[in-house]
Amino acid sequence: MQKQYDVIIAGGGLAGLTLSIQLKQANPDVSILILESRDKAAPIGAHKVGESTVELATHYYREVLGLKDYLEEFELPKHGLRFFFTDGKKDELSNRVELGPRLKLPVPSHQLDRGTFENYLEKYTKSLGTDFILAARAKDVNFKINDDGLHEVIYAHEREDKKAIGKWVVDATSRISLLKRKMGFAKEAPHNVNAVWFRVKGVIDIDEWSANEKWKTFLAPKLRYLSTVHFMDKGYWLWIIPLGSKNTSIGIVADEDIHPFETINTYEKALKWVEKHEPQALKHVCPPKEDLMDFRILKHFAHDSGRIYSSDKWAVTGEAGAFLDPFYSPGSDFISLNNTWLSDLILRDKKGEDISVRAQIYEQTHLSWFTSWLPIYQDKYKLMGSAQIMVVKIFWDWAIYWSVPCLLFTNHGFTDLKVLKELFVSEKSLGRKFGKLNKAVQDLFLDWLPHENKTFNNRYIDPLDLDYLKKFQRGIDTIHGLTNIVAVVAENMGVLENVAAEVFRLVSNQVNGTALDIKVDPYIMDLKIPYQEEDHVNGLLVDPAIQSDVAKTWFYNEEMIEA
Ligand SMILES: Cc1cc2nc3c(=O)[nH]c(=O)nc-3n(C[C@H](O)[C@H](O)[C@H](O)COP(=O)(O)OP(=O)(O)OC[C@H]3O[C@@H](n4cnc5c(N)ncnc54)[C@H](O)[C@@H]3O)c2cc1C
Repeated sequence: MQKQYDVIIAGGGLAGLTLSIQLKQANPDVSILILESRDKAAPIGAHKVGESTVELATHYYREVLGLKDYLEEFELPKHGLRFFFTDGKKDELSNRVELGPRLKLPVPSHQLDRGTFENYLEKYTKSLGTDFILAARAKDVNFKINDDGLHEVIYAHEREDKKAIGKWVVDATSRISLLKRKMGFAKEAPHNVNAVWFRVKGVIDIDEWSANEKWKTFLAPKLRYLSTVHFMDKGYWLWIIPLGSKNTSIGIVADEDIHPFETINTYEKALKWVEKHEPQALKHVCPPKEDLMDFRILKHFAHDSGRIYSSDKWAVTGEAGAFLDPFYSPGSDFISLNNTWLSDLILRDKKGEDISVRAQIYEQTHLSWFTSWLPIYQDKYKLMGSAQIMVVKIFWDWAIYWSVPCLLFTNHGFTDLKVLKELFVSEKSLGRKFGKLNKAVQDLFLDWLPHENKTFNNRYIDPLDLDYLKKFQRGIDTIHGLTNIVAVVAENMGVLENVAAEVFRLVSNQVNGTALDIKVDPYIMDLKIPYQEEDHVNGLLVDPAIQSDVAKTWFYNEEMIEA
């Protein structure tokens, strides 16, 4: 008799493999089949993008999946995200404004060679009992083929069409998006950005690009090398990511309206583009074409999804669902959340629980999380030429990320219905306020842009010099318990509101000449409307500790550190 699986996963990439491990670790009796179209081991060095991890996904890999030992032994430790802004010329790195952690970070993250990583995950999930078939291309799904509601997956393998039977079908085929196409729930994301990337042999250490000894020794050796490095100017960022295989990943991500895809979509064009926009990088990151390990392009990578989890026992995970933008490396974060919601549903279903309400709540939360994260990226590539705006924005984006989603994830809040209800049920609930506050701040950045066009240089900004930011980042791994977590989120929201109000005070002072101690209601602040105190009756007064932190990011302040 044909084997009936609890779960059939189409696509054995990052999302599919990690889902299988998460399920097996929670319940070894869950039977899983992975169908993967690749026909041999993943190539080392040049396999896929998704190489840089940030805090939420790092927690997922290390603590939830238990991969800490593997990551420490076989992948590189990462020294945070590092940004270099334009100084106008971009021909001497040490002159550019640099943002990044200076000292070794207490909260870990990693640079992954996706080939090494996926080969390990495949081996590991097989050792846990998962059936994994290579060269198996999932072609179609027939839902509920019998009275038990089992699904049938048709796949091509060894020149034949074969069938697998399972209770759950999960689409993890990334952009092939088997279920989205079959069922028609694809959705456009209003964010038009393109990417090209390539891998080069050998190590690239940006410390070697400058002869400026003071700059070189400002950080301990290799810390810049271990960062995910971003070079930025209007409409783009260029990444450098070191890989454990001692190769280097390079990518250009650019807004279609400012740097059309046609200007970067072949290696020859990308070279010309780098020569024009990042002249100093050219000789370091662009080898002769024959020495490239690969060259890949992706037009308009952002996409949304109308569905994620169904109580009819199908679901999507990873890029087969929704994807926004790789700035800040959040791809694996969304996979971590996606797999955590999905494995919770599958495991409860296996125990015989009715999952219909949960499936609906998880799907709504997942999709609304995607929507509330969109303003971080949408239209924001035009800000990338302004060091002042971007420094304030990056710190804001990190603050909201560490203080709420990371904390909820490490505290298991995303799968607790009581917590989700408290956070999202009414218009006034904290989760909804969080979305509104973020939108107000992101709009402020756009309104600020026409007024902020000064070019700065020779400054070093360390996020961990800001007390509230340091506290948020270090607090990620603190377990508060489900009964207390909403109160902690409320406390963090109070800090975020004060940060938003303080940023508005500084910007409004610069643009509209308002006083530096105005009362600000961060939910209604608007640079385009003349400030009237009576509009801000419920506003916040200056918080001296936040004021002093935000001042550290303000370039017009004489006391800023010069590197
Ligand atoms: C430019 C760019 C840069 C990025 N950088 C980062 C980053 O630094 N950090 C980060 O966390 N994320 C990053 N991401 C996101 C990250 O790449 C994705 O989140 C991640 O790779 C998606 O994993 P996945 O499992 O959905 O897809 P994949 O890992 O691509 O897995 C899909 C698998 O399905 C298989 N497959 C396809 N069709 C079929 C089929 N019909 N049957 C069977 N198997 C099939 C494929 O062979 C593949 O192995 C980036 C994304 C982009 C676009």
